[in-house]
Amino acid sequence: MVQALQIGNVSVQPGEVKRGGIPLGVDLYGRERVMPIIVCRGVEDGPRVWINGATHGDEPEGPYSIHRLLKQIDVTQMRGLLVAVPAMNIEAFTAGDRGDPRDTFSYDMNRIYPGRADGYATERVAWAHWEAMKDHCDLQIAIHSGGDHSFLDTAIFAADTPASLELAAAMGPDWNLINASSAGRGSPSSMMAELGKGGITVELGGWCSMLTVDFHEVGRRLAAAYLNVLRHYGMVEGKPEYAARWLRGHQVALLANKTGLFIGEDVPLRTPMAKGTVLGHIYDLYGDEIETLRAPADGQIFGLRFRVMTQTGDWCCFYAVIDAERDDLLVRK
Ligand SMILES: [Zn+2]
Repeated sequence: MVQALQIGNVSVQPGEVKRGGIPLGVDLYGRERVMPIIVCRGVEDGPRVWINGATHGDEPEGPYSIHRLLKQIDVTQMRGLLVAVPAMNIEAFTAGDRGDPRDTFSYDMNRIYPGRADGYATERVAWAHWEAMKDHCDLQIAIHSGGDHSFLDTAIFAADTPASLELAAAMGPDWNLINASSAGRGSPSSMMAELGKGGITVELGGWCSMLTVDFHEVGRRLAAAYLNVLRHYGMVEGKPEYAARWLRGHQVALLANKTGLFIGEDVPLRTPMAKGTVLGHIYDLYGDEIETLRAPADGQIFGLRFRVMTQTGDWCCFYAVIDAERDDLLVRK
């Protein structure tokens, strides 16, 4: 008999889907806390993919799109390993906040990953996840969105490594903007890149797109992209599709310099625009405009703030400056 694979408290044989969790200790009710995981082990060995949702607790696009993907997977027809983590940061997800509101020392899991075994609360949760993932993962997708303040539209963040850029390209035709990010500590994707493996952070959605059909559409598009990835790596049947070429860019964060009401201009996301294009305005409560936000360079916006109440330093526009056009991300050296 083939040896069972153990991940967290889940033991899985080829051709099985098992649910369980990554143990996180005991709460005051005396209950064992776990980070829920769903482990799909194909009938043959192959690439090992982890899809991680809700590193940030105000981003339910992760769990929803994962659930949609899993409905389309027949593990008896699959190669390799798919581990789905609907929500990495349960405390944050429970609160609907970016981080665990009770953890003021390591609040943002996507900045402190992989944490520490003896660290602050969120660091320990991150460490448990990394310990469970690191020896069973070749490719990692972390799902993000604009959360409770902004809408983000089909942008990827990936380090400049062949494995990560190939994974980014495997997301399919909609996903042709790949912003630079670093390798090393900080996030699951950066840790994977540090190991020379594929790790990407993908951005789609926000609270302005959570009502019925809008949210279904966000979930559908994300799940379709993961399925394209599984097809690209030969894990499931079907023909993958790709963008014709990719835009390699870097993010410029446009932050408010004034406190007031941010009203975005009706500008198209993910469309080339010229430096100086007006992106939005900030008004005071007398109705006077106190700041105009403009494109800092030729490029495109991939995210815009919808939460009108804005304070100095709040994020208003997610802007990408394009550094290169690439058509070689799928050419393996
Ligand atoms: Zn996020």
